[in-house]
Amino acid sequence: NGFQRFDLPSFLIQSLQEQQIEKPMEIQERLIPAILNGRDVIGQSQTGSGKTFAFLLPIIAKVKPELECVQAVITAPTRELAGQIYNELKRLLEDQPTEHLIKAKQLTGGTDRIRTMEKLNQQPHIVVATPGRLKDMANTQAIDVHKTEMFVVDEADQMLDMGFIEEIDPVAALMPDDLQMLVFSATIPEQLQPFLRKYMQNPRHVHV
Ligand code: AMP
Repeated sequence: NGFQRFDLPSFLIQSLQEQQIEKPMEIQERLIPAILNGRDVIGQSQTGSGKTFAFLLPIIAKVKPELECVQAVITAPTRELAGQIYNELKRLLEDQPTEHLIKAKQLTGGTDRIRTMEKLNQQPHIVVATPGRLKDMANTQAIDVHKTEMFVVDEADQMLDMGFIEEIDPVAALMPDDLQMLVFSATIPEQLQPFLRKYMQNPRHVHV
């Protein structure tokens, strides 16, 4: 399996194998090592390029299950997109060894707030969220992002168009200074630059 050359846990390689995913796509080839090395990255690509695995695989590899805190936050502009990412994440986590389980939760708007808070009580390591619900949960301290190490902003250009950068900026501000930021976007509009400059250091920019 072509994913074996990356430093990924064997249960992930196994899960890919079961999904008949054998050969890394270009964005995965170029971004997985950079993300494993802690780099900030900008992935400029369309849906269908394989970007979801490009960030999910190294994130899962880097999360430390023994630490009970939200270590990675993934945001997408719509419930549908967040749901798709969450489903791929759950599938990758299905075969993990049972000693130290990585827990993931989905937080999206339009669902019961109390239920969302209950999910957070279960101390997830990885959260997939839409911007409004994420901001709400961070503001009310239902989610603690002070120890979050990785933040994914998917479809950043759509986020900008929908006014969501304003929602996620204050959440990013609560995260540690050495946060690893992973931004994915089909285009990089000029209006996105202030946000990127504020939170990213020497990002690896990959355009596929
Ligand atoms: P994405 O661009 O992340 O939305 O992925 C598009 C589709 O490609 C998804 O259905 C993935 O399951 C699939 N996919 C991702 N990586 C690979 C790969 N290396 N080989 C074959 N299919 C893949």
